Amino acid sequence: MISTERLFDHAPYDSTFKAKVISIGPDYLVLDRTLFYPLSGNQVNDSGRINNIDVTNVLCKDNNVGDYISLESQIWHYMDISSFHINQEVDGIIDIQNRLLTMRLHSASHLVEHFISKLSGFVSVEGSFVNYEKDRTDYKFTTSLTIDDLNNVGEEVNNFIAKHIKIETKISNGIKQWICGDIKMLCCGTHVDNVSKIGKVKLKRKNKGKGIYRVETYLLEENNV
Ligand SMILES: [Zn+2]
Repeated sequence: MISTERLFDHAPYDSTFKAKVISIGPDYLVLDRTLFYPLSGNQVNDSGRINNIDVTNVLCKDNNVGDYISLESQIWHYMDISSFHINQEVDGIIDIQNRLLTMRLHSASHLVEHFISKLSGFVSVEGSFVNYEKDRTDYKFTTSLTIDDLNNVGEEVNNFIAKHIKIETKISNGIKQWICGDIKMLCCGTHVDNVSKIGKVKLKRKNKGKGIYRVETYLLEENNV
């Protein structure tokens, strides 16, 4: 089966693309290449249009088993497919404002995780999700994540953002890695290319019980790219 080339891995700032229809399902379109990020890796899918028709959802065919996704998967664009045919050349456009906000928040979430994982009592990351409004990540602690801890982490993250460090992603053997200075994490999502593009962030905390704390990350500046 032909997979869909993931244009967003190499050109996360692009908003328009041309592609060819390689398969048509009952309610989804498969293209040979796409800028639409699929709902996967705990990141929201992109919204946008193909040939001026709204894309309502985007999924990987080999969908989401835990944090693992296949970089070789087909990507399915859910939409009204009645006007399309196989081998048709199409024009796609994603909502770049939402993409940029999501990239900033996703990049910020890696820094938050980095500094939270250094706190005493930290055990593990229990799940996360990022969209264009916020990132939320659940952390397990043997102790508690106090307001002071959270404020300190927020300060460390904002100080780090002020350092203007380059962000890179490397893909090898089907694994995508997020690299920023000495920090490395496995991740399939989209990110800004420098921490300075995140802008200042604000953290909120919710005690979910049983040692689980949910940390929400918000952007303080709407436009920073
Ligand atoms: Zn990431």
